[in-house]
Amino acid sequence: MLAPLSGVLVPLERVPDPVFAQRTVGDGVSIDPTSGELLAPAAGRVTLLHRASHALAITTDEGLEILVHIGVDTITLNGKGFTPRVRQGDRVAAGQPLISFDADLIARSAPSLLTQVLITNRERVSGMSVATGLVEAGRSIILQADLAAAAAADGSPATETAAVSEEIRLPNRQGLHARPAATVAAAAKGFRADVRLLRGADAANAKSVTAILLLATRPNDAIRVSASGPDAAAAVSALAALLAAGSGESGTTAEAASGPARGAPVTAAPVAGSVPAAAPAPAEGPARSTDPRKLLGVSASPGLVLGKVAQLRRASIHVEERGAGIERERAHLDVALERARQQIEAQRAANIGAASKILDAHLELLADPELIDLAVAGLADGRSGAYAWREAYSSYATRLESLASSLLRERAGDVRDVGGRVLGLLAGVTTGPIECAPGSILIAEEFSPSETSSLDAGKVQGLCTTGGGPTSHAAIIARALGIPAVCGVDRAALGLADGTPVVLDGTEGVLLRDPDEAEVTRARAAIGRLAAQRQGERAAASAPAATTDGHRIEVAANIGTVEEALAAVAQGGEGVGLLRSELLFLDRDTAPSEEEQADVYRAVATALGRERRLVIRTLDVGGDKRLPYLPLPPEENPFLGVRGIRTSLERPDLLRSQLRAILEAAPLGDVHVMFPMIASLDELRAARRILDEEQRGAGVSVRVGVMIEVPSAALIAGQLAREVDFFSIGTNDLTQYTLAMDRGHPKLAPLADALHPAVLKLISLTVEGAHAHGKWVGVCGGLAAEPVAVPVLLGMGVDELSVPVPAIAAVKALVRRLALRDCQALARELLGLATAGEVRARLARLGSEAGATAAAARR
Ligand code: PEP
Ligand code: MG
Repeated sequence: MLAPLSGVLVPLERVPDPVFAQRTVGDGVSIDPTSGELLAPAAGRVTLLHRASHALAITTDEGLEILVHIGVDTITLNGKGFTPRVRQGDRVAAGQPLISFDADLIARSAPSLLTQVLITNRERVSGMSVATGLVEAGRSIILQADLAAAAAADGSPATETAAVSEEIRLPNRQGLHARPAATVAAAAKGFRADVRLLRGADAANAKSVTAILLLATRPNDAIRVSASGPDAAAAVSALAALLAAGSGESGTTAEAASGPARGAPVTAAPVAGSVPAAAPAPAEGPARSTDPRKLLGVSASPGLVLGKVAQLRRASIHVEERGAGIERERAHLDVALERARQQIEAQRAANIGAASKILDAHLELLADPELIDLAVAGLADGRSGAYAWREAYSSYATRLESLASSLLRERAGDVRDVGGRVLGLLAGVTTGPIECAPGSILIAEEFSPSETSSLDAGKVQGLCTTGGGPTSHAAIIARALGIPAVCGVDRAALGLADGTPVVLDGTEGVLLRDPDEAEVTRARAAIGRLAAQRQGERAAASAPAATTDGHRIEVAANIGTVEEALAAVAQGGEGVGLLRSELLFLDRDTAPSEEEQADVYRAVATALGRERRLVIRTLDVGGDKRLPYLPLPPEENPFLGVRGIRTSLERPDLLRSQLRAILEAAPLGDVHVMFPMIASLDELRAARRILDEEQRGAGVSVRVGVMIEVPSAALIAGQLAREVDFFSIGTNDLTQYTLAMDRGHPKLAPLADALHPAVLKLISLTVEGAHAHGKWVGVCGGLAAEPVAVPVLLGMGVDELSVPVPAIAAVKALVRRLALRDCQALARELLGLATAGEVRARLARLGSEAGATAAAARR
């Protein structure tokens, strides 16, 4: 291969762009140029001339593909400073001028002028030697490659290495806009070959939605598909058929010509499985009401409220330009992209029709190689992941916005939407508090835990999300704030104008828009009754809770902050059954210092005093709760990965420092330590060993417990009980892991029911195991605050209920109305039932019988 430029050869590792430095694009060498005219390094055909004229590919007669890329990040110059001397498809001789460029302008505008000469189909090469030092354009040999002996050793004919289709007239009435582009890109990704869509001299990477969009196709445009690589012929035939059939879009001229039944000729192609079906099978979305004003969802936090709609507008995100090094920033970016993908997939599962197609297009954008390459290139200059990502998606969106087609301009909105989602995840730590008018019912697709915890409960009356589930962290925080919340609500809620009057029923999971006068009056009366009931409960909140037959139940609080500890005491909490210590670790760039943690634990212990128990749960992150300063590799199944105690055992330094901070607070109160997500005795023993060492060092000891939130822990409760002082049952996770239903999944939310008899059996086993060894059992999951579940938990022998602060008074009042022996009989009966539906129906009957008895007594 001849030097295409004069200059100094530089090894690829030194190119400030990981896709080149790590040889992701191909293998070869880079040149720091002193000349300004790019010459052909070998004879062959120009198979690609990028429309921005900064890159070009030549395929030699031997089938070697050589990509020459002038500079780094020069795609953003959009052709400025480059003058092509050849056209795509031309045959060129070695040494022939290909592109002239203005080296000064490019050096001023791009991160680097280093020019890469790469063999992109490495499978065609068995060995390669690269020269070093100064080279002269068109004269020096820079690279020698030995061709692989058997390019077609697998029997594939030589013609498979490169193929081009006939011209296809695009049948799509709007050209290849986002959705058909996403379908084409998904199909192209099913092949190993490099696949391009060609329109005259324009070419687009068929695996990149953005590149296809930038081709700005129009109906009836003549497109050819070209491919090079091992399965080129198959790729060309499948993609050509897909394009001819309308790329998965209905209502195309292809369909009109051939009828819908013949509109899918790609089904026999190898990629058929990855092409979304033209008509998705109907899936169950949220339930629909016959009254279009009534939007149904699932209860996430009880209560009834009248208010006005405020759609969540996310505050502009502050982004630091400088990053913490390529590797760390790349890891951040990967985690955010993965999290965004999970969020979109969860929403997609709950949506059908057009909405799910749009989400498909968003998923494709998240995996768009050009978009990601551009962001990664930005990291090379020491920029942060958030900064580089914002630059990348904004520049793509801007380019789309400058196109003539209004449809393509609209697609810029998709790019900004999905880009903003990732940016929010990358920079979530810096989003400001949510601003809204008093009396607002805030609506969004989802609230992050940090958004929910920054709410001003004085202004926000209620929350409503189209995503999430009742055990999601946002729902937990809404309950902690005492704000009614509904999740998994009909997506029509997102279309309600700000200021629309609504009634939000958090108990029933309903959002009613534009209530009429009678409905407003009824809602006001119900709110009044509830307020009176709450007032009565609050008046008795500080008294202990005992059943009518004298059985004492401790009612404690779930908290995350010192303020909540103070509120818990004021509202009758007999202790803290769960301090979610991770709230101290979230929403920041670095881990809290030992001293900072100790300050918080000391303040909480002081607020509770020595007579109230304080259970501090050690850090429960991993899974969906990720920390920027604790990079963990992306996981396919984060909820089944390095989560809870597993994270702490991976980072014993963090665990030790947290335990030392807890031990500092121990002399001030009745401090207990609790380990989350224990699945085996080995995990408990490993964590205890560390605690024992730290206790010896500090000369202080505390009581130790574990959360029972994994079925395996419930099943070995007896064995675990021998080695701890107490249990606390996390019904949110116990339900998720018993029923194999993601706790945040909007579609599964109504099914992920902690009153499922299987979950009840595990709770019962846990209590038996603990009591057999004289240990106490609490429940700190959401079930403890569900009024219908309280008698069931009491009947199974639970000793403590730990609930959100606003629920303390109501739970105590409820306990006082129950008789233990009735609860025990009820629990026995329910454990024999088969489904959650049967359990709920039995409890509902009980409720109406109790209501009838109370009414009779009043008479
Ligand atoms: C639970 O899983 O029930 C629990 C209390 O823990 P968290 O909700 O914090 O995961
Ligand atoms: Mg849990």
